[in-house]
Amino acid sequence: MANKRMYIVSGGMIHCDLANMVCMPALGTAKENQVQSIWAKSPVTCMIIENEDGLVLYDTGCHPEAMTVRWDEGNRLRTPVEIGEREGILAALKTLGYRTDDVTHIVLSHLHEDHAGCIEFFDKAEILVSDRELTGTMRLYALHGDMGGYIKNDIKAWLDKEVCWSLVDDEEEERELLDGIKIINFGPGHTFGMMGLLVTLKESGNFLLVSDCVNTAANYGPPIRFPGLAYDTIGYQKTVERIRRLERKYHAKVLFGHDIGQYSQLKFVPEYYD
Ligand SMILES: [Zn+2]
Repeated sequence: MANKRMYIVSGGMIHCDLANMVCMPALGTAKENQVQSIWAKSPVTCMIIENEDGLVLYDTGCHPEAMTVRWDEGNRLRTPVEIGEREGILAALKTLGYRTDDVTHIVLSHLHEDHAGCIEFFDKAEILVSDRELTGTMRLYALHGDMGGYIKNDIKAWLDKEVCWSLVDDEEEERELLDGIKIINFGPGHTFGMMGLLVTLKESGNFLLVSDCVNTAANYGPPIRFPGLAYDTIGYQKTVERIRRLERKYHAKVLFGHDIGQYSQLKFVPEYYD
């Protein structure tokens, strides 16, 4: 068993319209046709996996300066994030006694602001992303249109730092990254190309990290509920069905992208799962 420990990192709290996470959270009726948006808290997380052959991250959270210089005003208003001094991937690595250069691999679920915000700090690591996701993101950037959850300053930093991308294409449904760490390539759904991670631990068993393939337990259902932001709804549905099959096959615990109820049950750095 090559994984030693998995740490969960708290990356702060996004405050946003719940409709971002679950489509139509409050429906109007004939009696009440002026429904208000529900302003809710959504936790941000990422993971550190200590393996005998490397130090692996699954996602990186938001950039530490998201709310000052990094994000456009639109992103700061739509999804303001609050990051405590001891939160975020950089603080977590420091707490555990690691340098950023110790990270060997980063697997990215997708390239949105709250998942890929810190890539530039890891220019020695191999950064694994879906080919479709990188292609779709760079196309948006080139067309100068609405970037949605993608951040221009993040992309500029990736290009400036010449980070070391490693692409996972459509043909590859799964990839054994290291012993006990398997990338699951989910394809289009929430965004152009989503990836999950299956992590096997000796004591704690299997974890299936699915990020925003399933934002919350409400999305998982059954029945499945779409998020407010979905690039491909049929792909989204197929992905959730695949996650259910994997959950059964591996007796895995599924960790959602932004579920506040699940978040309150987890252990965070410096505690760990082994
Ligand atoms: Zn997210």
